[in-house]
Amino acid sequence: MKVEIIPCLSDNFSYLIHDKVSDKVAIVDPAEFKACDDVIKKYKKLDFILNTHHHADHVDGNLELKKKYNSKILGFELDKDQIPGIDILLKENQKYKIGKLEFEIIFVPGHTKGHIAFFFLKEKVIFTGDALFSLGCGRVFEGTHEEMFNSLNKIKKLPSDTKIYCGHEYTKSNLNFCLAYDSKNTFLKKKEIDIQKKLSSNQPTIPTILGQEIKTNIFLRCDDPEIKHALGLKDSSEVEVFSKLRDLKDSF
Ligand code: ZN
Ligand code: FE
Repeated sequence: MKVEIIPCLSDNFSYLIHDKVSDKVAIVDPAEFKACDDVIKKYKKLDFILNTHHHADHVDGNLELKKKYNSKILGFELDKDQIPGIDILLKENQKYKIGKLEFEIIFVPGHTKGHIAFFFLKEKVIFTGDALFSLGCGRVFEGTHEEMFNSLNKIKKLPSDTKIYCGHEYTKSNLNFCLAYDSKNTFLKKKEIDIQKKLSSNQPTIPTILGQEIKTNIFLRCDDPEIKHALGLKDSSEVEVFSKLRDLKDSF
């Protein structure tokens, strides 16, 4: 499985997936036609378009790409009226294949009501859209804080060496937020060095690794006593801590 990172718009990531065995090509969340097409061109084909959710900065390339390459567009069944050109309606926990690459639909509502992630089982690679970011998570627009919290917990249970490809390059601002409320975290300080290195050489900070995120991403650490203390929420539940963090981040 080859994954090509395609920076789009100001801070979006689209991704091209190539299965070398079957020569099938797919794109995840085409934010814009041109940037995606420049990468697709060398494969001369695009079999599938995968959408994590219906927001414009994740689907705006859909129709033009479909028109040029006659691709099939896959999205969650709940988003059927909102994803342009959708052909195949996916269900929670459904499995699907791009050539030999098998992936599972993980339903992760919160950012939107119909948000999904694509988890490639054997390769241990997940595309998380705007559900989970490196050191952060998406804003809660359509769902509830509790839904988002439960969604992140689903991702948390995947193998710790899972590679995470998310929808945006928000890592630097997420890092600053994590540092503000989890300042004693030594793993976070190590990750900071790694992030600075990548950003200063104009490299994406993606992919990140789930095991690292669990140690550093404050939204996955709502049970941590130091963080609870920093928030003045010593006796609160994890979901209460999550809600507080999400609210604080919204205005950070
Ligand atoms: Zn979004
Ligand atoms: Fe987005």
